[in-house]
Amino acid sequence: ALRAEVRSWSGPAATADGTHVQVLANVQDGAAARKASASPAEGVGLFRTELCFLTAKTEPSVAEQAGIYGEVFAAFPDSKVVVRTLDAGSDKPVPFANHEEEENPALGVRGIRLGWTNPGIVDRQLDAIAQAAEDNGVEDPWVMAPMIATVDEAFEFAGKCRERNLKPGIMIEVPAAALLADQFLAEVDFFSIGTNDLTQYTMAADRMSSKLATLTDPWQPAVLRLIKMAGDAGTRAGKPVGVCGEAAADPLLACVLIGLGITSLSMATGAIPAVGVQLGKVTMEQCREAAQKIVEARNSRDAKELARTLLS
Ligand code: PEP
Ligand code: MG
Repeated sequence: ALRAEVRSWSGPAATADGTHVQVLANVQDGAAARKASASPAEGVGLFRTELCFLTAKTEPSVAEQAGIYGEVFAAFPDSKVVVRTLDAGSDKPVPFANHEEEENPALGVRGIRLGWTNPGIVDRQLDAIAQAAEDNGVEDPWVMAPMIATVDEAFEFAGKCRERNLKPGIMIEVPAAALLADQFLAEVDFFSIGTNDLTQYTMAADRMSSKLATLTDPWQPAVLRLIKMAGDAGTRAGKPVGVCGEAAADPLLACVLIGLGITSLSMATGAIPAVGVQLGKVTMEQCREAAQKIVEARNSRDAKELARTLLS
């Protein structure tokens, strides 16, 4: 019965009491964006631009980049599209990004830090995103930086975005950013929580290691507490805080996330209907009450058990 419900679900997502929940797609290129636009996704919550360049030996020109980004904007006219600047490095090396051998690449020059070893790379990409937005008549292009760890980085990135009429945001995937959420949110217009890396860095457990799966679990209460810090900061500031990591695709966890103040959920296109169906079974109040209890759990098992009891 649930499978039939999922198959026929067509959105938009709302809780049982009618609170709309913005559900978005994670995409890596124009083809994926076009596929997502034929789904109930209301837009793109994470465009992973580095995945366009996994085999590029030289940095594509601003015009070439603008053409690629423009395909994603074109797939979702008049909808929210969040472009993430290059998150190359660590598990996603990009040939033109001058990655050096590092002892610990997940803790090395990746994400926004690429600008340190590739002068101008962030500016050129922002030029390309601004060009693509202009070419496609996008009024409000959302752009976010990965791996932001200091308020100064957020300040600098936001300045570059605003110079180009881009709406600046940052990913929350380093615990430091969640811990100082209010200060970071004073600099930017939105947050998007990357639960894959936030979990990896909170639990000191490599996201690529299947042996560590019990640690790389976003149901870990320590991770949920950091998500709550970011969500609370968003509520206080009246600014959107989304989740774009795998956690958003777990239907029960999606309910917990909105209970923690998260305002949008972005996930693989195929995961959207199951999340939409589950959201429709719970009220916002139920999600809030459950979330407050779940962040007090002493381990991920108890957190999941509480969610099953309170939300399904
Ligand atoms: C994340 O870290 O959760 C995220 C969404 O980014 P990526 O998986 O691309 O690192
Ligand atoms: Mg990440």
